[in-house]
Amino acid sequence: MSEIPKSMKALRIHKAPSKHYRLEILDVPQINDEKVLLKIGSAGLCHTDLMVLEGSFGDNLPIIGSHEPAGTVVDISKESSEKYGLKIGDRVAALLPKDVCGKCSDCKFGDWKYCANSKYGGINIDGYFAEYALVEAKHCVIIPDEMSFEQAAPLTCAGVTIYTAIKKANLESGQIIAISGLGALGTLGVQMAKAMGLKVVGIDARSQPIELVKSFKLKPDLIIDGSKIKEEEAMKEIIKLRPEGYEGWDGVDATILTADPTSSHSFALNLTRRHGHIILVAQPPELNFNFKNFIFQDLTLSGSLHGNEIDLKETINLVHKNGIISEVQKFSIENHEKMVDATSNEQRKGKIVLSFE
Ligand SMILES: [Zn+2]
Ligand SMILES: [Zn+2]
Repeated sequence: MSEIPKSMKALRIHKAPSKHYRLEILDVPQINDEKVLLKIGSAGLCHTDLMVLEGSFGDNLPIIGSHEPAGTVVDISKESSEKYGLKIGDRVAALLPKDVCGKCSDCKFGDWKYCANSKYGGINIDGYFAEYALVEAKHCVIIPDEMSFEQAAPLTCAGVTIYTAIKKANLESGQIIAISGLGALGTLGVQMAKAMGLKVVGIDARSQPIELVKSFKLKPDLIIDGSKIKEEEAMKEIIKLRPEGYEGWDGVDATILTADPTSSHSFALNLTRRHGHIILVAQPPELNFNFKNFIFQDLTLSGSLHGNEIDLKETINLVHKNGIISEVQKFSIENHEKMVDATSNEQRKGKIVLSFE
């Protein structure tokens, strides 16, 4: 293991709104009993990072961007090494919350991911667009040797979020799940849901992501292009996915909403069967649903928030075992402005990552 330098390159936000990050030289942070130092291999750029740049999360600035880290453990205290079974040289992916309080009701009785007192890397505390960064030892998951950092980084947010949402749908093998929105989450989601034995309907209205999912080994059983097909036609195609003798309701059993435009939501809700389940992971400023979907169609709406370390471990295993890939577009830290600008390309495919490899 090479020696840890005193300073590092990092991308920080100084004021919001800002169009871009500022590339700076900062001190390498110091470990403590709960936090380990990672040499970052890759860090993902997420929709939430753009919201931080826009100022949607207030002005807790300056901070280093990104909440999706994968890298190598280069410094760890003896205590956390023993407590969490990590050592120098381990290749890990880590979850976004930092400093969960351990005292609130969720930390004590529920799931720490709901801790209202936690901070989030890249959102209100320094994140991972840096050569080195601190992560919680207890939130690290070791990644398989064959998994690259650029494939691991998107799993810490997009991957674990969509995996947890699919789990929340609580469907059995052979049931139908729709994933509306085939961006970074959706493209991973269709592959995961297929690997979990579900029938999968992918919905989008953009040609590029539709072409991308068609190229997957684990492709959806049905792809609906919302720009080309009406609801009635789409419903006929969904009905064809049911086995002979099926006597249930028309429509998919559960739908995950990953895209923000509310027009895409009503389309997807109308394709969900009566008494079905809608899982919201998109974060539009406001929702705009028709009451009929909930009262007459008896849909149940649940939100789903990223995941904990068990979910991340399961996500990494599922992805590794089934050869699931994230389409990634890599940028070096010097090209950070181009990296942010690439997000406004509507036709882009998959996930944008900063890479130090
Ligand atoms: Zn994210
Ligand atoms: Zn707490």
